[in-house]
Amino acid sequence: MLAARKNSTMTNNHTNHRTQPSGPPLIQCRRLTKTYKKGDNTITPLQELDLDVPAGDFLALMGPSGSGKTTLLNLIAGIDRPSGGQLIIGGTDISTLSRSKLADWRSVNVGYVFQLYNLVPVLTAYENVELPLLLHSMSAKDRHEKVQTAMQLVGIADRHDHYPRQLSGGQEQRVAIARAIVTDPTIIVGDEPTGDLDQESAQAIMDLMVRLCEDLGKTLIIVTHDAKSAAYAKRTLHLEKGRLVEAELLATRHAPLVPQEA
Ligand code: ADP
Ligand code: MG
Repeated sequence: MLAARKNSTMTNNHTNHRTQPSGPPLIQCRRLTKTYKKGDNTITPLQELDLDVPAGDFLALMGPSGSGKTTLLNLIAGIDRPSGGQLIIGGTDISTLSRSKLADWRSVNVGYVFQLYNLVPVLTAYENVELPLLLHSMSAKDRHEKVQTAMQLVGIADRHDHYPRQLSGGQEQRVAIARAIVTDPTIIVGDEPTGDLDQESAQAIMDLMVRLCEDLGKTLIIVTHDAKSAAYAKRTLHLEKGRLVEAELLATRHAPLVPQEA
């Protein structure tokens, strides 16, 4: 069970990192490339991207619309497959897995949180959270316990029988997070998980994400447009035109045109 958060208010880029285990990073992208062919045109949303994500990291991805953020997230989540390069996660190069093996890998290793929650409207909150467990063989009792635990973790245990339309956006996203963590995956990815929420609900969701990282040791990668949400992560990387932009480059680009006196 979760311990209560040590600090009730988050500070920017919290520094109480877990000690990183030695060994290779959990996620290694090597010259990772994604291309789409449309007639004679080739679109390259990701170009030879190199990225290491250690276990227990909380990474925020930012960048303009169309810069490849969702593409990268979907590759790491095993929803989509790379056109080139390597994507080694937990020692497995998932770019070499067949579609069905990749689906199996995803159901064990990754939880996905979407901007618009993607709950099934005709299922209750409980049934939505239970859904990923139906892919795994387990007793009804085990399944019930896992759903209960996930719903308690995200603070939505009193909404079992509610349908998505009976929940606020913030509550729907909690249900979606419970669904993402119910199989106890190593990696949680979120594509603009606070993009449709008011500021207060967004902060509560980001607080919850921090707990998943700090208390449960999950590795999180979220895409966000919102600097306030990104500030909850341990580090932020920026994508532009399918490439990671170096922090120094960004700093130079955003430097004042007229040098300021010290
Ligand atoms: P972001 O999430 O940063 O807004 P995306 O990763 O969704 O960007 O898209 C990056 C680029 O790839 C865009 O130019 C988009 O139009 C293109 N793209 C994404 N998915 C597809 C697809 N299935 N077919 C063709 N082009 C795509
Ligand atoms: Mg996107």
